[in-house]
Amino acid sequence: MGISEKSRKLLWGRSGNRCALCRRVLVADRTDTDAEAVVGDEAHIAARSPGGPRHGECDSDQVDDYTNLVLLCRVDHKKVDDQPNHYTTEVLRKTKNDHEQWVNDNLDKKATQVHTTLKNSGIVDLSPSETGDAAWNVIDGAWEFLFQDLDETSKTMTTSTAQRSSSPTPETGAKSPRTSTPMA
Ligand SMILES: [Zn+2]
Repeated sequence: MGISEKSRKLLWGRSGNRCALCRRVLVADRTDTDAEAVVGDEAHIAARSPGGPRHGECDSDQVDDYTNLVLLCRVDHKKVDDQPNHYTTEVLRKTKNDHEQWVNDNLDKKATQVHTTLKNSGIVDLSPSETGDAAWNVIDGAWEFLFQDLDETSKTMTTSTAQRSSSPTPETGAKSPRTSTPMA
């Protein structure tokens, strides 16, 4: 049967492209010479094969369903399959649920923060966006966005909308700030 396209989308989407155990990002960036590398596995909670870890703890016709899968990095996939006495079905289901809730809560928080800023045309400190989805949540709905005062030490980025700054951009010394219009 195999894992369906829909189960894959649910798993990767709800996991926010991060390992449910260590939360590392599961796609390595492309290099000058190579494409991106996927370093995440769609791991079975209850194994499909007889003798595999936690085998028999879910109905055989549901073994490839989203409900029996957890997104893990390669290291943690090996760990949970080699240590099934510690990583029981119950532990893995809870780990998965907690992780998906964490992803949801964090993206919701970001979205609310940005929408408030857009409404007030004010300035807010944002954490760095580590994924495409997180970055999209920042710019989604903006008609103009201005990034300024990138502080490498504190790793915070100040953004403002509908507001122009007369201070030069640090890297280029240009008079006008860089702007972009993500939405047509
Ligand atoms: Zn991991």
